[in-house]
Amino acid sequence: MTKSAIVVGAGIVGLATAKALAEKGFTVTVVERTQKAVGASIRNFGMIWPIGQPDGTLYETAKLSRRIWKQVCSEANIWHDEVGSLHTAYEADEYRVLEELAATYTHRGYKLVTPDATRELSPATAEKNLKGGLYSPEEMIVDPRKAIAAIPGWLQEKYKVNFLWGKAVTKVAHPAVHAGDEVFYADLIYVCSGADFETLYPDMYAALPITKCKLQMMRLQAQPDNWRIGPALCGALSLAHYQAFKAASSLSTLMTRFESQYPDYLKHGIHVMVSQNQAGELTVGDSHEYGLNPDPFDRSVINKLILDYLDSFATFKQPAIIETWNGIYPKLTNGEANIVLHPESGVTVINGLGGAGMTLSFGFCDQLIKNSI
Ligand SMILES: Cc1cc2nc3c(=O)[nH]c(=O)nc-3n(C[C@H](O)[C@H](O)[C@H](O)COP(=O)(O)OP(=O)(O)OC[C@H]3O[C@@H](n4cnc5c(N)ncnc54)[C@H](O)[C@@H]3O)c2cc1C
Repeated sequence: MTKSAIVVGAGIVGLATAKALAEKGFTVTVVERTQKAVGASIRNFGMIWPIGQPDGTLYETAKLSRRIWKQVCSEANIWHDEVGSLHTAYEADEYRVLEELAATYTHRGYKLVTPDATRELSPATAEKNLKGGLYSPEEMIVDPRKAIAAIPGWLQEKYKVNFLWGKAVTKVAHPAVHAGDEVFYADLIYVCSGADFETLYPDMYAALPITKCKLQMMRLQAQPDNWRIGPALCGALSLAHYQAFKAASSLSTLMTRFESQYPDYLKHGIHVMVSQNQAGELTVGDSHEYGLNPDPFDRSVINKLILDYLDSFATFKQPAIIETWNGIYPKLTNGEANIVLHPESGVTVINGLGGAGMTLSFGFCDQLIKNSI
C-alpha cells in the first residue's frame, strides 16, 4: 500500500522534502499557511552558491543540490543562469586571501583573474584600485520569487503532490496534523516551518541553541539594453561571512583591518553581494542582525552602508532602488549547519539551514529522506 506523508511549509525546505518523499513513492500533501510561500525562500538572492561551503559534507551537499536545481529548473522551465560567481579585491590583503583560496581549493575550478580579466567577466566591477578577482564557475542564479512559485505546480504535475494553501497548521500529534478544525492524517509528518518555530513544538525549540537572523535587502531597477553583470558579485567583506573562506590563514590579517576600518559594517553583519534576475533587476544585500525577536523596522542607515560599500566595487547603468525588504531565517548558535529532530515518532523537523538554505536544501533533503526511509 502507498504510504502517505504531510509536509508543513512550502518554502525551499518543504518543497525539497516533498520532492524527495514523492520520489520514494509517498503520496505527499504540503500544507502551507499562506496563499503562496512568502518566507525566506522568496526573499533571498537566489544564489545557488557552493563556493561558501567548506570541503566535506556541506560542499558535496551543495554540489548535489546544484545538480538537482538544474534538473528541476530544466524540467519545470524555470529561468536559471549558470554564471558562476566573482569575488573582487581592491586591496592587497583582499587579493592575498583570494590567492590563498585559489591555492587551497584547486579541485573547485577557481580562477584567479587579473583586473582586466575581472572587468571582462563583469562590466559592473569598478575599475579604480581593482587588484583582481576570484572567479568560480559553479554558482548558479535563480529568481527566488519565480522559482519558489513555479516548483509546486511542477511537483503537482510530475509527482501528484497535493498543495493545501492558506492553512496554518496549529498542532501536530502523529498521525494527525491539525489546521484549526480540520485534521489531516499521514504515515509520516515533516515540519519545515522556517523562522516560525513558536507555533509547533515551542518547548522543543526553546531548549535548542537557535536564534533568528534578520537581513535587509534591496532591489535595483532592471538594467537598460539587456545589460548583464555576468557572475554573481561579491565585495571583500563577504570573505568574513562564509565558513569556506576560513581556510585562508591570511583572512585574520584582513579581519584586523576590517575591524578598524569598518566597525559599523561588522556591528550590523553587513557584507555586500549582487545577483541579477532574468528581467535584468539587481538584488543587493545584506545585513545580519540576530535575536529571537527581530526588529520589524528596517533602518535606512543599514541600507546606506550597504550601498556605500557597493559603490566601492561595482557600478551599474541604472542604480535606482525600486524595492527594499527584509528576510528572516533561523540560525543555530552552536555552529551546526542544520537541525533534524524527531519530537515524536513519525514526525521529523527539518530546519536551521541558515543563510545557505537555497544552496543546500535540495541536496540535504534528498540525502536525508533517502538515508532515513
Ligand atoms: C535575505 C536573505 C537572503 C538569502 N540569500 C540566500 C542565497 O542567496 N542563497 C542561499 O543558499 N540561501 C540564502 N538565504 C537562506 C535561504 O533563503 C533560507 O535558508 C531558506 O529559504 C529557508 O527555507 P525554509 O523553507 O526553511 O523557510 P521559509 O522559506 O521561510 O519557509 C517556511 C514556510 O513554512 C510556512 N509555515 C510556517 N509555519 C507554518 C504552519 N504552522 N503551518 C503552515 N505553514 C507554516 C511559512 O509560511 C513558510 O512559507 C537567504 C535568506 C535571506 C532571508
